[in-house]
Amino acid sequence: MDCIFCKIVKKEIPAKILFEDELVVAFPDIHPFAPVHILIIPKEHIETIADLQDKHEKLTGRLVMTAKKLADKAGISQNGYKLLFRVKKHGGQEVPHIHLHLIGGAKLSENIRPIK
Ligand code: 5GP
Ligand code: ZN
Repeated sequence: MDCIFCKIVKKEIPAKILFEDELVVAFPDIHPFAPVHILIIPKEHIETIADLQDKHEKLTGRLVMTAKKLADKAGISQNGYKLLFRVKKHGGQEVPHIHLHLIGGAKLSENIRPIK
């Protein structure tokens, strides 16, 4: 399967791994739009949030808790940050492997990506 995020999980393409456990991996976004921009992804290939099943409840919690901990570590928890899941076409999702964006370190505008 030709999934770029699966390749990062398998260390077949490079990324600076900021956190990894049995369920998730976190690494900086290659095109950051804020001083802190980290992607937290499941190790399992699941295309979108719309594909989640009840058995993924623990994983879903782990994604959010990992973002919370990385925000603490990055020193942005007091001022705050944004957590974002894009879902499929209308959500603007470009990589079909679930990823949670952790974005912060500056005051963010409401539209973090212009409408094309
Ligand atoms: P989406 O638009 O699907 O919500 O977000 C995909 C994100 O993945 C984008 O912000 C993009 O910059 C990031 N991205 C795409 N390819 C790579 C890659 O190979 N490495 C890293 N670190 N980030 C990537
Ligand atoms: Zn994948």
